[in-house]
Amino acid sequence: MSDNSVVIVTGIPGVGKTTVINTAVDMVKEKHNEDVLVLNFGTEMFEVASAKKIVEDRDEMRKLPSAKQREIQKSAGEGIAEKAKSARVIVDTHTLIQTNNGFLIGLPEWVATAISPKTVVLVEADPDNIAARRSDDPTRERDVQAVESIKVHQEMCRAAAVAVGTLTGATVRIIKNRQGKVEEAATQLHDTIME
Ligand code: ATP
Ligand code: AMP
Ligand code: MG
Repeated sequence: MSDNSVVIVTGIPGVGKTTVINTAVDMVKEKHNEDVLVLNFGTEMFEVASAKKIVEDRDEMRKLPSAKQREIQKSAGEGIAEKAKSARVIVDTHTLIQTNNGFLIGLPEWVATAISPKTVVLVEADPDNIAARRSDDPTRERDVQAVESIKVHQEMCRAAAVAVGTLTGATVRIIKNRQGKVEEAATQLHDTIME
């Protein structure tokens, strides 16, 4: 356990993590004139994987063999843990990545303890809304997933978030990202960042 102020923000693809984070960071700047460093685990992994010419797009990474994903995750995790030592940090990532061979653990013990967050936030939304957000977002190649399977994925993410809390002593906070209510979710994330 440590007294650092890293907040890890998780949630299934298309739930709105990056959108809520960006809004919360703007709120912190506006209300407190403080900067928050946002570290996107997927971007860090993509830099590692694209430098090795393994993928051309960030959405290709979860299709790689799981051993290859773990290898890239390890390099990226070391980079993230090093950068996360500064004052206010958010890590934008996933607790469970749906691969061709089951769920890959996004925050295995060595990643979780190296980052040592104060809180793990789990962003959740209505499964129907998530399916629509994925298909309506032209900037990404998100998986088409049945609503029932989105529901199960979200339930599994609760268990995975609690596992990170168990390993690190972090609190676990569920934030609902309701349709059209990004500000409401961002206000809760702002409060966690500033706590
Ligand atoms: P990924 O894990 O794939 O990076 P993400 O969780 O970061 O996904 P975003 O990219 O933030 O998801 O959001 C996905 C889409 O949903 C975007 O088009 C975004 O504008 C939209 N969106 C996010 N939050 C809401 C909301 N509360 N209401 C309506 N649309 C939303
Ligand atoms: P994102 O933009 O958050 O969806 O991240 C892009 C991709 O990076 C994801 O689809 C995953 O393939 C990968 N990724 C992100 N975080 C992790 C993690 N902690 N462990 C393994 N893969 C991850
Ligand atoms: Mg994102």
